[in-house]
Amino acid sequence: MGPRQVNTQILEATANMMVADGKGLLAIDESTGTCNKRFAKWDIPQTAEARRQYRELIVNTPGLNESISGAILYNETIRQKMDDGTPFAKALAAIGIIPGIKVDLGAKEMAAFPGERVTEGLDGLRVRLAEYAQMGARFAKWRAVFTIGDSTPSCGCIEANAQALARYAGLSQEAGLVPVVEPEVLMEGDHTLEACSEVTERVLITVFRELHSQRVKLEGMILKPNMVLPGATCNRQESVEEVADATVHCLLRSVPAAVPGVVFLSGGQSGELASARLNAMNGCYKSRLPWQLSFSFGRAIQEPALEIWHGEPANVVAAQEALYHRAKCDRAAHRGEYNAAVEAEHKKSEPDEAGSRVCRKVQMKSKIRQKFIVGNWKMHTTSLEAQQLAQAIVNGFAAPDHVTVVLCPPFPYLPVVRDMLRGSRIKLGAQNVYPEAKGAFTGEVSPTMLLDLNCRYVIVGHSERRHKLGESDALINRKVTCALASGLHVILCVGETLEQRQGGRTEAVLDHQLSTGLAEVTPERLSHLSIAYEPVWAIGNDEHHATPQQAHNTHVLIRKKVGQILGAKWSEELAVFYGGSVEPSNALAFLSQDEIDGVLIGGASLKADEFLAIVNAGIHETEVEIQSA
Ligand code: PEP
Repeated sequence: MGPRQVNTQILEATANMMVADGKGLLAIDESTGTCNKRFAKWDIPQTAEARRQYRELIVNTPGLNESISGAILYNETIRQKMDDGTPFAKALAAIGIIPGIKVDLGAKEMAAFPGERVTEGLDGLRVRLAEYAQMGARFAKWRAVFTIGDSTPSCGCIEANAQALARYAGLSQEAGLVPVVEPEVLMEGDHTLEACSEVTERVLITVFRELHSQRVKLEGMILKPNMVLPGATCNRQESVEEVADATVHCLLRSVPAAVPGVVFLSGGQSGELASARLNAMNGCYKSRLPWQLSFSFGRAIQEPALEIWHGEPANVVAAQEALYHRAKCDRAAHRGEYNAAVEAEHKKSEPDEAGSRVCRKVQMKSKIRQKFIVGNWKMHTTSLEAQQLAQAIVNGFAAPDHVTVVLCPPFPYLPVVRDMLRGSRIKLGAQNVYPEAKGAFTGEVSPTMLLDLNCRYVIVGHSERRHKLGESDALINRKVTCALASGLHVILCVGETLEQRQGGRTEAVLDHQLSTGLAEVTPERLSHLSIAYEPVWAIGNDEHHATPQQAHNTHVLIRKKVGQILGAKWSEELAVFYGGSVEPSNALAFLSQDEIDGVLIGGASLKADEFLAIVNAGIHETEVEIQSA
């Protein structure tokens, strides 16, 4: 069989379909050995028939095509049939899922490179590809692996694998199959995130150099890389946002814009973490990226389903529901719309006798729902004091993932504090923002400038700005809308004055602040929005304190109002904080209220020991909630 003309149009159309509409790929291409290992873990018989039944369960999952654009099959599966006699590739195509095939023959020890592997399978590939195409496959995947060690991966290993990837990609395009090029930097090891970033960049640059030299049409391929992660046994495990930042920047440096899509492998990450990381990339960067960022997960989609199935026919429906749910979460993540409510939907559909309040408690215990501790330093501190305060907080900080700490220093000190926070999980926030991305607005600070400083949070509508600087609800709404559109996480402050409270106008005031402040905010932005209830009479005030019960009642009211504005189901996931003279002695009383998701702190955030004591109250409360879950 000789070479034939590449049909670029068909390749491009297929590649674009594989990453369209928020969809992604499902990798069910485990080799027989790998599949058997996973079956052994759950005592499932390791037979060809059991593997067929499991793949049939997956393909038959109702609604799978809502989130999955393509499925990668293994050589054994593409030759197998569904119960009704339809071959797998045909059954997938019939439900609008593009069938694909893994075509490499595995990573083998590399001669003269101890500990490194090179992927085999080029011999006879042209014939195999033609057969797969004839069976209905429209894309083909090849995986190369790289291990980070003291002196690995070597140039020799990277180059050999990159060349093989490029040769397979060329042959795939010739056969009319979109190559899904998978260079995987493995997670195993104690290497840092920085090391993974450096190796991933080196690998991708070499791979694209080889793809170019083998004349592979970049518009007709998909890249399947690893996310940039710290090694599985590295002491420092960066936050979801830090992983997202590192991954996106690494890809921007190494992946040409002509490539239509990047679909991440999950490589041993939990389903929730893989969704959260993909979501953070799309939530923050989507509008600025030349390619779609989607998923090609195996374990991260299948694991819960496999565990439920256990090889038992009676468990098929429950397993399919779990699979459908994970795929749906990943579709939301591709759109930047994944959040605790999406994650909790599956659990919520199970009967829940105690009604919606228990339901909210369950959501609060999901890994994604956070307690927030936000420090607003206002116009206090000098540059040196800001540096010292940030340093003392970083030194004393050891909060788990489900506690988010944000420091909001004055504008001029954002860079100083950012540098102090580098490498810690503490986030940087600003106290205000201008409602335009750029323009002739002397002295103002735009959302773009904040993002440029790695500042991800912003307080909008603080009562001091409302009452001392005359900010209206309409102006606040413009700030909220512009900041959210830019990808900032907005903390919108609302609250009544003492006079308004005593005049019985609290509800009307909050109603106006929320309905005007949130006008035209769409529910999908909610994962980047929090409300801080700050009764003006309780801020920096030794005489008037809101009681935890008062704060709780008003939080219920706020949640109800937000429900009326944006839809009831969204209000459940909204994080609502309390602010007003929070200090170490009362922090736990506020944080332990079911409706209170965090605290916004003024005065007490200026003393490292007081602030850290409040952080500890947040940690304590989340631990209590998790234990009682
Ligand atoms: C604030 O100004 O946002 C605030 C809550 O201040 P304090 O904690 O000092 O009352």
